[in-house]
Amino acid sequence: MWEALRPRAQVKDWARSVWFSGAIPRQAFIMWLANLNRLPTKMRLASWGLNIQTVCCFCNSHDETRDHLFLECSYSTALWLRFFARLDPNRTAFLSWEELLSWIRFSTASAPSTIRKLATQSMIYNIWRQRNSATGISVMPLVREDIGGNSLLLCNFGLDCCNLLI
Ligand SMILES: [Zn+2]
Repeated sequence: MWEALRPRAQVKDWARSVWFSGAIPRQAFIMWLANLNRLPTKMRLASWGLNIQTVCCFCNSHDETRDHLFLECSYSTALWLRFFARLDPNRTAFLSWEELLSWIRFSTASAPSTIRKLATQSMIYNIWRQRNSATGISVMPLVREDIGGNSLLLCNFGLDCCNLLI
């Protein structure tokens, strides 16, 4: 019984880390998609059959996956180190998305959880924006409509393959 309920509890847990009072909706939305690994990274676009270069636009040396783009890339790592210098000076780069989520939930006097959530959402949002302008493609997804509880996601590609059910 507990094992059956557990995954749902974990989903609720991270959902609370994304949608909270004070969150900036457009930043929370990108964070939400990133959490689900539903942002249209180049590796995901390629997996849908799109014939594109999958190399990361920042470092030109690794495939662009969510974890590479936001956590592992030298560009992002440098940003995170500046970010941590203010919020959590002893912190080093995140090694996994799960580690990022647990850092967000943690609260200290100098870096309360709400500040961590807001700052992290802003980081993720801005890395994604930078990535979009660096690749020359605008991929700020918009929720277009709800169908049976699912949101129809419209990437700003003008391509049919980017209309996704999420
Ligand atoms: Zn990179």
